Amino acid sequence: MASSRSAWIGGNWKMHGSLADNAALLAALREGLSDAAESEVVLFVPFPYLDQVSRLLAGTALALGAQDVSAKAKGAYTGEVAATMLADFGCRYALVGHSERRQLHGETDEQVAEKFGAALAAGIRPVLCLGETLAEREAGKTEEVVIRQLEAVLNLHGAAAFQDAVLAYEPVWAIGTGRVAAPDEAEAVHRLLRERMAKADASVATALRIVYGGSVKADNAPLLFAKPNIDGGLIGGASLEAKDFLAICRAANF
Ligand code: PEP
Repeated sequence: MASSRSAWIGGNWKMHGSLADNAALLAALREGLSDAAESEVVLFVPFPYLDQVSRLLAGTALALGAQDVSAKAKGAYTGEVAATMLADFGCRYALVGHSERRQLHGETDEQVAEKFGAALAAGIRPVLCLGETLAEREAGKTEEVVIRQLEAVLNLHGAAAFQDAVLAYEPVWAIGTGRVAAPDEAEAVHRLLRERMAKADASVATALRIVYGGSVKADNAPLLFAKPNIDGGLIGGASLEAKDFLAICRAANF
């Protein structure tokens, strides 16, 4: 991790949790991260728990995030949640383009780009998730895919829109599979993404946090986070266990 950028860790709870489980997990995290005043640790919780979690995070260094956001501001969009609604509940970040949304809900690059803009318009920092599938990787298309996904947003909103954003490189074959990208493999993609961003705006590229996601655990986190272009992680399964998540946070020097 380059010293000019502060580390960033996200915990994506996906569709897990209950009022009781959330309270227990947050109590353990608050205890473990109590000295982390300078850290940026964000919890991406299911929509119904935003209110509970925002109350429990009050006064802590932990921030709140949503797992998705509507591209629309308001209207007849049953089941959608607008960025302004997320802002009402104190969300600082929202994931856009998580691979589970792209794959299971057919989200296109264009829709992801619209969501990115909708989040920013409401003062919410988007976390743009991108990454190749196993078939794309095996076909040698990793670079083409991640650049296409990045450019869909860059071309619509410009480089300045990334000042408040985070990029999450998440190879689809590594998400929830236990198969993590080798640190050098991940670093090569992160470097490529930063170089592409630098062509648009060098200072935005230098400051941009690019984090890795995909089966990050306490034992593989240190080597990943040691790479100069890996600025932290987006953590799925391991964010549901306080001990594991805290160990990953510590690996990012919190
Ligand atoms: C994710 O959901 O973004 C993720 C990286 O999941 P996991 O850590 O479980 O692979």
